[in-house]
Amino acid sequence: MNLKADFAIIGGGIGGVTCAETLSYLSPDTNIVLITASSLIKTVTNLVQVSERIESFDVEEKPKSYLESTLPNVQVIHAVVAILDSENHILKTSDGTSVGYKKVCICTGGRPKVSGNVFRTYQTCIHWFLVIVEDNPFVLGIRDTESVQEFQKKLKNARRIIVIGNGGIATELVYEVEGCEVIWAIKDKSISSAFVDAGAAQFFLPCVNKEKTETKKTLKRHKYTEEDDVSRPKNVTGGALGPDWSVNCDMVGNQQGSHKVHIEYSVEMVNIFKLDEIKTNGKKIENPSIFEQITDDWPVCVELTNGKIYGADFIVSATGVVPNSHQFSGNNNFEIGEDGGIKVNDKMETNVKDVFAAGDICTASWIPAPHWIQMRLWSQARQMGCYAAKAMVASLSNEDVTLDFCFELFTHMTKFFNYKVILLGKFNGQGLGEGQEILLRFTEGVEYVKAIIQDGHLQGAVLIGETDLEETFENLILNKIDLTSFKEHLLDPNIDIEDFFD
Ligand code: FAD
Repeated sequence: MNLKADFAIIGGGIGGVTCAETLSYLSPDTNIVLITASSLIKTVTNLVQVSERIESFDVEEKPKSYLESTLPNVQVIHAVVAILDSENHILKTSDGTSVGYKKVCICTGGRPKVSGNVFRTYQTCIHWFLVIVEDNPFVLGIRDTESVQEFQKKLKNARRIIVIGNGGIATELVYEVEGCEVIWAIKDKSISSAFVDAGAAQFFLPCVNKEKTETKKTLKRHKYTEEDDVSRPKNVTGGALGPDWSVNCDMVGNQQGSHKVHIEYSVEMVNIFKLDEIKTNGKKIENPSIFEQITDDWPVCVELTNGKIYGADFIVSATGVVPNSHQFSGNNNFEIGEDGGIKVNDKMETNVKDVFAAGDICTASWIPAPHWIQMRLWSQARQMGCYAAKAMVASLSNEDVTLDFCFELFTHMTKFFNYKVILLGKFNGQGLGEGQEILLRFTEGVEYVKAIIQDGHLQGAVLIGETDLEETFENLILNKIDLTSFKEHLLDPNIDIEDFFD
């Protein structure tokens, strides 16, 4: 099949789908082709504007026909793009379809970094370890719906798992898993460090082993299943999960009772053993005192950098994602960022003519606004997909486009341990250097508020719980209000700061 499109998009995750929707809206007379390796595409639903810059939304999986029925000028092809021939402006899929394009946007996301930690520390063993980890049936990376289903299946028979990683996925897993002991191995001195500082981690710590009182909310959704008629290479995943991936997902092991979690701080994984290797080498398996499983028949054992060895039924590697930038680099000389993403400028253009990129795949390489940072999140995939579409339309008609205002302030709204979490600006003081003042308000089990002030101005904030401060703080950051004389009262619960700054 030979097709011709004005705009082509590779990937049916939030980035790609938002790009297609925006292109269709902005340019209804063009034809748009979206090619996705997964038959289910991701759509944004229940969008709520929490404040001017903070949005909350759900992500739903829908069949590809949904996009075609709602967007008349969009055609969706379920296939794997094997070649991006940027010189001739042609995409070739592994089943022989070719799509000519004028502008293309790569939205191919990332894949789990199953061996990331070890990679850095043990340079000499890289190849050996990659083989062991990537091909090890006891190591699971979580990225898409299929990997979660595999996780659930394995968990059903599990007594103990080892979770490696300290980001959002690991934090959610550790909180959600029931009926199974969890060893949580993190490389930092505090939990959930990808998002929160040590103080906020302290706030969450009692939740780690706390009995859950609330019953799990169930989202009523139509469930679509994947057509499996496209053979995806191992390194091409489905769309990454959305923010509520754990809500409809039972994570129950084969033991009675709630979860029991033992945390190992400041460690990385160095080795994976089979039990007989441990026994032959005369090594000792640790047994944390809070656990009941006094057994040594574990199918897999992990050695950590502190020398401790733990046994488990399987290992979950949740050490982040690596952008899928390798896929089209062979015949295109993409500039790659330090984090492995394809570099894009402030128009979401790569260095290759007429090729744009958006979402987890890309590395934002413009000079960022003082209160914006890139993080691979669904909110940014959506913003980038939308802005890339605007830039593609402008580029086709030789017009200019200015960077969207959503890139002025970093905002992220999520839930950890069932608490509302809002992150604003340089919420962890990223890159601020010296002279930061930290203001804190902390009520155990209720709320944690951290405001970062520098040169009299609010630079970032972490708001945990129902603080109701998000809108005011957003305005204080964006309007660069001088707080020098007011900062003593900024977090005073008896002062209505919204009223004060109105
Ligand atoms: P993806 O969603 O990864 O989509 C990539 C698409 O490209 C897929 O459809 C894939 O099949 C397709 N593709 C890849 N290669 C090819 C090819 N060669 N040809 C055709 N198609 C191809 N973010 C949050 O903000 N909050 C959260 O709570 C949160 N939780 C998460 C939990 C998990 C378990 C995971 C894995 C991620 C989570 N994220 C979260 C991150 C968020 O899901 C991603 O940042 C976001 O979905 C990225 O969207 P994307 O469109 O760039 O890429």
